Amino acid sequence: MTDLSQPAAGVQPDDTAASVPPPLWLLAELTYRCPLHCAFCYNPLDYTDHSRELSTAQWIDVLREARAIGAVQLGFSGGEPLVRDDVEVLVEEAHKLGFYTNLITSGVGLTDQRLGDLKAAGLDHIQLSFQDSTQQLNDFLSSTRTFELKQRVAASIKRHGFPMVLNCVLHRYNLPHVGKIIDMALAMGAEYLELANTQYYGWAHANEAQLMPTREQLEEAEAVVAHYRRTHGERCKIFFVVPDYFEHRPKRCMNGWGAVFLGVAPDGVALPCHAARGLPGLTLPNVKETPLREIWYESDAFNRFRGLHWLKEPCRSCEEKEHDLGGCRCQAYLLTGDAANADPVCDKSPFHETVVKVVQRAASASAAATVAREQPILFRNDANSRKLAAAAREPDVTVISGGSGAKP
Ligand code: SF4
Ligand code: SF4
Repeated sequence: MTDLSQPAAGVQPDDTAASVPPPLWLLAELTYRCPLHCAFCYNPLDYTDHSRELSTAQWIDVLREARAIGAVQLGFSGGEPLVRDDVEVLVEEAHKLGFYTNLITSGVGLTDQRLGDLKAAGLDHIQLSFQDSTQQLNDFLSSTRTFELKQRVAASIKRHGFPMVLNCVLHRYNLPHVGKIIDMALAMGAEYLELANTQYYGWAHANEAQLMPTREQLEEAEAVVAHYRRTHGERCKIFFVVPDYFEHRPKRCMNGWGAVFLGVAPDGVALPCHAARGLPGLTLPNVKETPLREIWYESDAFNRFRGLHWLKEPCRSCEEKEHDLGGCRCQAYLLTGDAANADPVCDKSPFHETVVKVVQRAASASAAATVAREQPILFRNDANSRKLAAAAREPDVTVISGGSGAKP
């Protein structure tokens, strides 16, 4: 296994700094706190271990430093960013700095008053998440009663004149509802609909056996999306990306490690990708101790998988390496135990069989029924997070689902 605690052989920070473009996209994860408990949440399983949040002044410093090195797009996310009462202050500062700002929210806490204040502060865009087009499944998957509230919030967002993206994470439970989800987005006047097939990191990885769809479900959903694009493409732009597990080649993850994306976690840890926190041995720098410019250009964490220098076989000699840069590092780690391996989604990877087996198990009705019976969904909540964090420290601690384990 590659030792991630050591700098890559032959790479000096100065070699890369001259050729590295600036980050374009800053994602400010303001908090891990969230009133929802989504089964597919991308926050780290042990998020309760990282709960000390940056102050307003520290976030303002992050925004200024990021803008100074060239970042232009800014997402405020979480958790639920609106559990903090300083979002309006941060939006105002970001607007003054010239960022294009996007609020990524579950809708909980987005009152008319706050919408008006955010508009006055200069917020450009809002992304509102739904879990499904039905109240039953929306509320089951988030383990909350939030469907009606989200509907009211969507109407308020439009009343305040914001461009709106509706986001819905897809998996085996709601893929059959894709047509209804699109109808819902059209009825709400969304300009964009992001049908985001589940990425299996964080809580989604823990629930992968429950959430993984069948190939037939995906193909049917794709056909529905294609129909709506033909008939309603002018009114609402629909994004639908087939999940990696069903492909033979990986995606160019984050458009390249340390290429365009710079995330900052609630506690100030800088992230080259959303899930980088889960990679063992990678020392992630913190904005409280290191200037953002130094983090982006010089830190080992951001240089570790930047470009092509670090690739191992079969990627190193592969003619497609410029295209996908070896795929996703977190997926490589989760499925092969080594973040420097080829993403096992690739059929040239010696570990590709692990992905094939996951897809085959999802396709087997009897295997899916066994999973549903024996492995209740692990909902994202503080109690489960604390147990998982303890289990990571002491492997004999048993983690039990805090969710109902009930079926929708
Ligand atoms: S995925 Fe769900 S639980 Fe996770 S931050 Fe978003 S709304 Fe909260
Ligand atoms: S071997 Fe590596 S570089 Fe080649 S296609 Fe597969 S993941 Fe991409």
